[in-house]
This record gives sequence, structure tokens and C-alpha cells, in this order.
Amino acid sequence: MSNIKENINKIKSNIPKNVTLVAVSKTYPNSAILEAYEAGQKFFGENKVQELVAKYETLPKDIEWHMIGHLQTNKVKYIAPFVHLIHGIDSLKLLTEVNKRAQSNQRNINVLLQIHIAKEETKFGFSEEEVISLFQSNELTKLTNIAVVGLMGMATNTPNKEQIRNEFKGLKSLFQKLSTLNSKLTILSMGMSSDYKIAIEEGSTMIRVGSSIFGERNYN
Ligand SMILES: *Cc1c(COP(=O)(O)O)cnc(C)c1O
Repeated sequence: MSNIKENINKIKSNIPKNVTLVAVSKTYPNSAILEAYEAGQKFFGENKVQELVAKYETLPKDIEWHMIGHLQTNKVKYIAPFVHLIHGIDSLKLLTEVNKRAQSNQRNINVLLQIHIAKEETKFGFSEEEVISLFQSNELTKLTNIAVVGLMGMATNTPNKEQIRNEFKGLKSLFQKLSTLNSKLTILSMGMSSDYKIAIEEGSTMIRVGSSIFGERNYN
């Protein structure tokens, strides 16, 4: 058995049944994705539109593709025909564009709102206040071809486990607060290779794991 298959099986056997594993395949070749696919993995995450489209076109059609990275408004049209879930919605403008492109493809697209929980400036996302006022406004109900089905967050890149845990706790508590305003919220996407165990302890229902499955990434 290859390492990829072993890694997938090991992670799957160690996470609760209600937690979905998204295999983050950015930068890895199709051959690596196919190994994971043959181990039964059907959900894959990418963070670049061009790479996502190229992989969608060449790989098996029953793969569910997740866009997990920062998405530019002018690139939504390329993924709207097939994307399964967009994790990184960070503005009403982007949400409106996804709705428009979903409409022109006669689809409904599921999305997660990204919440800025990390201490780093470089991570994208809504603030807690922004997302609460978005839910209290009637803006979301006007967007008939999208469904906001949950929240996504990335913890600070730090060895401080308590800080990471507190950031995930904060996201979970916001998720619960918003769930009382919108019953469609079911997905809490938090946790990657370095912190998914903590994320699951704090209520994650979807983890995005790359390097623990595929090995160290080479960005060149
Ligand atoms: C790359 C990436 C991941 C996976 O990171 P690993 O450390 O390789 O598990 C998860 N989420 C997002 C948004 C990413 O860009």
C-alpha cells in the first residue's frame, strides 16, 4: 500500500464519523490525487482557480471539488459550473457574484463564510460583527441560488496550542449563535494537518488536510 493510501485510512479511522475529510491536493499531481481516490477519498480541496479547473477537467467526474482558498470575484465564473463547496467567502460582493454565476449555470451553490479568527493580518475573512449583521439583514434571502451552509476559519500559525484552541472555540460559539438565526448552518470547516485534532475536539465537522496525506509540499 502506498503512503497516501495509508495516510488516508489512518486519518479516517481516527476521526469521528460525523467529520468530513477534505483532502487538500493543491500543488500535488493528478497521480497523487488518483491514489487517494482509489483509497475511497472523494472530496478534494484546491486553493487556485486555474489548478482547480485543470484537475476537474482531467480527473474522475464523481470527485467533489472544494474551493478552499481566497477567491477573486472575476474568477468565480470558471468554477461555478462544477464546484461543490466554496469555503472562503469573505465579502457580500463575492457572495453576490457566486449567486449570479450559479444562476447562469442553473445551479445552487453551497458556500461557507470565512471568519477571521487568527491574529495574523494576512488571513482573510469576515469579522464576527460583520457576519452577525449580514445574517440579521435580508441580504442573504435575496440570493436565491446560493446556500450559506456553514462557516470556515483558520487558526493562527503558532505552536501555542491553547491559542489555537481558543480561536476554534470562538468560531464554534459564533457558529452556534448564528445557527439560531439560520437553520441551514450545518458545516463548521476548521482544522488542517497541524491542528485538526484540536479542531475536532472543539466541534469541527469538516477538516482540510493536505501535507499529512500527501507529504511535504513543493511550491515550485
Ligand atoms: C493548504 C491549506 C490547507 C491544508 O494545509 P496542510 O497543512 O497541508 O494540511 C487547509 N486549508 C487551507 C485554506 C489551505 O490553504
